[in-house]
Amino acid sequence: MRKVLVVGGGYAGFYTAWKLEKKLRTDEASVTLVDPRPYMTYQPFLPEVTAGSIEARHVAVSLRRHLPRTHLIVGSVVHIDHAHRLANVRPADGPEQELPYDTIVITAGAVTRTFPIPGVADDAIGIKYVEEAVATRDRLLTAFERAATLPPGPERRKLLTVTVVGGGFTGVEVFGEMLSLATALLKHYAELSVDELDFHLVELRDRILPEVAAEPARWVVRHLEKRGARVHLGASLVSAKNDHILLSDGTEYDNHVLVWVAGNQSNPVVARHTDLPVDRAGLFRVRTDLRIGTPDAAIPDAWAAGDNAAVPDLASDSPGGSFTVPNAQHAVRQGKRLAKNIVADLRGRKVKPYRHHSLGTVATLGLGKGIFQYRRIVIKGPLAWLMHRGYHVLAIPTWERKVRVALVWAAALFYGRDIVSLLSVQHPRAEFIAASLGARQRREAGEPTEPVAAGAPAHFPAQVPDPHELTGDHIAGSRSHPG
Ligand SMILES: Cc1cc2nc3c(=O)[nH]c(=O)nc-3n(C[C@H](O)[C@H](O)[C@H](O)COP(=O)(O)OP(=O)(O)OC[C@H]3O[C@@H](n4cnc5c(N)ncnc54)[C@H](O)[C@@H]3O)c2cc1C
Repeated sequence: MRKVLVVGGGYAGFYTAWKLEKKLRTDEASVTLVDPRPYMTYQPFLPEVTAGSIEARHVAVSLRRHLPRTHLIVGSVVHIDHAHRLANVRPADGPEQELPYDTIVITAGAVTRTFPIPGVADDAIGIKYVEEAVATRDRLLTAFERAATLPPGPERRKLLTVTVVGGGFTGVEVFGEMLSLATALLKHYAELSVDELDFHLVELRDRILPEVAAEPARWVVRHLEKRGARVHLGASLVSAKNDHILLSDGTEYDNHVLVWVAGNQSNPVVARHTDLPVDRAGLFRVRTDLRIGTPDAAIPDAWAAGDNAAVPDLASDSPGGSFTVPNAQHAVRQGKRLAKNIVADLRGRKVKPYRHHSLGTVATLGLGKGIFQYRRIVIKGPLAWLMHRGYHVLAIPTWERKVRVALVWAAALFYGRDIVSLLSVQHPRAEFIAASLGARQRREAGEPTEPVAAGAPAHFPAQVPDPHELTGDHIAGSRSHPG
């Protein structure tokens, strides 16, 4: 039996493994998938998670549940020695392992691109993972609670200030959704007014949304400005130190939530830790059939797709050719083509080239607002937003996830979105430690140490560890290692 190793269970990796499970005979090959997360993240829904319109766990597709025939290793591939068909895997626990394979599929995606701008590493957050979307949502919701207790003034305004750096597809979607959430929240906070919201979108180029034509992109800028936002075109972030934003156009202000979505860069394991060939951008050189190699010479048993590969775009009519855009539309289809080609290769059949004509671009700009473009057809507003939701609810893998997402949307039609912040889950032991410390102080003062909570069950005291065992290290540890 041949051993197929899939590195990364995101879009391309999940679909490759899913289709391999369906197509491979049980005695033909075994499939192992390695990913540090045991779930595939449906990234196009992250802006809606940030806005509280989608439940966080619903965008995470369990690999164990939906890939029952695939052996899952939760860990990171840190090195690939293709000459010896060996991958080094660093699991979540235990020592690094050497994993032998016969065929490798590398679909590890890209990582967020950052620059050494003062303050960014300390304060900014990306929107690539579900944890980031949830933390951003909770930070915004908590900011409203805090602002409502303050008198009007600079402190309160700072709490209601949001900056998104990056006016690409992701940046604009996240910005539009956060603005939509903030505006909707105002009706629950009589103390706060719309003039106090301060939303900034910062883009280095002189336009946003390079995925759509110039005029619809200008419309999006006007649309966001009409909703009270400021769009800084041709500007870059110079500093974000101490929550103070300085832009290259001279704009300065105090800021509370800083979201960094200024593009991707190649995955380090692809760019630096393999003997397989990569281009100058650190992406695998891939042929039209998705094998790694050049048009003249394929590297045997090595395949790649998605955001970590430069895949020739056979549907492009640009002279000299180009590469497929790094997006989900391609990653999904490349994953499916890859699985078919691997099976064909195993059975000694001909493999086929990957070709896909873009279905257009659709982006959410907040609840009930969107933009769609397919060639010269542009649709703006609620219809485009419905198209965004319709497309993505059909595109999220598995019926189980589609139903969960759709049910939450349906409930929101009647009850609105959920506006509770769970920021405190990042410090789950804080209350417990405070209670235990209180007990310790009471014991040291010779006072009774019974639990203070009224109605606490009789067995509760027995479950509380001896407060003397809670050292300063425990407390510091619990704060610096949330969860
Ligand atoms: C917020 C957001 C919104 C988006 N919206 C859209 C949209 O509306 N339409 C669209 O077409 N595209 C959209 N995209 C882009 C799209 O999600 C990506 O292009 C797509 O996910 C790429 O798929 P992939 O499989 O190459 O990488 P990913 O889906 O990123 O998967 C890579 C996987 O590899 C894993 N991994 C990384 N390193 C290692 C390692 N060393 N070892 C093992 N595993 C590893 C990661 O944990 C991850 O699970 C969006 C992206 C974002 C961030």
